[in-house]
Amino acid sequence: MTFKTVSGEGLGNEPSSIEIDGLTFTRYGDDRLREECGVFGIFNHPDAAAIAALGLHALQHRGQEACGIVSYDGRQFHSERRMGLVGENFSRADVLARLKGRMAIGHNRYSTTGEAMIRNVQPLFADIDTGGFAVAHNGNLTNALTLRRELISSGAICQSTSDTEVILHLLSRSKKRRVVERLVDAIRQVEGSYALVCLTNDVMIAARDPIGIRPLVIGRLGVSYVVASETCALDMVGAEFLREVENGEVVVITDQGLESHRPFPKRPARPCIFEYIYFARPDSIVGGRTVYDIRKQMGIQLACEAPANADVIVPIPDSGVPAAIGFSQESGIPFELGIIRNHYVGRTFIEPEQRIRQLGVKLKHSANSSVIRGNSIVLVDDSVVRGTTSKKIVQLMYEAGAREVHMRISSPPITHPDFYGIDTPRKQDLLAANLDLEGMRQFMGADSLAFLSVNGIYRAVGVEARDPRAPQFTDHCFTGEYPTELTDQSGESLPKQLSLLAEVG
Ligand code: SF4
Repeated sequence: MTFKTVSGEGLGNEPSSIEIDGLTFTRYGDDRLREECGVFGIFNHPDAAAIAALGLHALQHRGQEACGIVSYDGRQFHSERRMGLVGENFSRADVLARLKGRMAIGHNRYSTTGEAMIRNVQPLFADIDTGGFAVAHNGNLTNALTLRRELISSGAICQSTSDTEVILHLLSRSKKRRVVERLVDAIRQVEGSYALVCLTNDVMIAARDPIGIRPLVIGRLGVSYVVASETCALDMVGAEFLREVENGEVVVITDQGLESHRPFPKRPARPCIFEYIYFARPDSIVGGRTVYDIRKQMGIQLACEAPANADVIVPIPDSGVPAAIGFSQESGIPFELGIIRNHYVGRTFIEPEQRIRQLGVKLKHSANSSVIRGNSIVLVDDSVVRGTTSKKIVQLMYEAGAREVHMRISSPPITHPDFYGIDTPRKQDLLAANLDLEGMRQFMGADSLAFLSVNGIYRAVGVEARDPRAPQFTDHCFTGEYPTELTDQSGESLPKQLSLLAEVG
């Protein structure tokens, strides 16, 4: 069997197509930032592993590459880590039966670069002198590469290429007595973003980085405590929402209840604003409001900032729908589903010939011509990364007979890559980092193009205006202002995230 990569507009830095024995397998992807992970934990429940699998299923949108669960039965830890979706791996009774115990944590993962490796699938586990320790991490440590080099040069043996493993090594080397003190010792040495769920012989621990870039919430299910990346996972398992794990907080869950620790100097929270734009599920509650309502507000702000004289508002499904509804409500222009999404587009597709490949975009999106033909339409989407999907969909609208196509994007232009756990292309692949507004309009072939302003998106999430001295959110993919040190990046041109770094592989 011969492999040949065929470069193209793929996901992240991966080639979009590979050729096997003359047949082309195209990984059909769309032009989105990708959140890398979802975490879940449950403490003191007889079906802990099954509940963890349900919670991960609800968080599948945060990572589709691989998933894992670690449980503890009072004597032994049990671990099951798999490539693929939760439903494909954890719906089998025999697998869940192996995950014994009343406490379990889980992780969904989406790989960014290089081949997917089972050794990078989380939760990661290690035996240390205080007992077993499992960790599931959402986010990215921006000094993990530097720490890893120091650890290896002082004799550490790394089992994976995941940044998260650095936390295990720092924890095992801590001289502190109690495991929670050791974890605090470890996270005091790391930079970047982390929402962690950890499991030891007798407690579950939840922790968020000092500015709380990635989300983490706590819930109650009868006598059990649940921790998850988003409230939609609490809803899935029937748990009542208690509160968010605050920025810089370490919460220890024991048989006696919750213990809150604050090992860091108090700092204002700066959660990632993109969770509101695209990453979080619309039914999740973040900062006391549903993501769906906030996205509608983004559409309302957008209609105020960049109105259009048109016949119909058409969302690019699914994530463009709430903003399009808001735009329609504010502008009074009717909302219609002018694009139908095929939810069954697999990851690979045999496309032996070029002329078939041209049809690629129609794999996922088809024009509803009764809505489009002869009309001037406003296409609403939540974000533009490379602009490739926007360009194809504008073309699709004209082919379906649209008179005019006006693009409206419910977030500001993405001009800077991410280092906090989001799969972003390199700066040179970001459309808005290379073209001005008119250049992007011409690239897409639209009659007009407008993005929501930074202050507009702040207003949509309930903040009157961005405070340039102390921004209330992490927003550097729009502003270029990174909220933490970027040790591993110093002197580097290309964005570098430790997970799956080729040079380490
Ligand atoms: S760059 Fe910042 S705002 Fe954008 S996705 Fe990453 S953490 Fe969020």
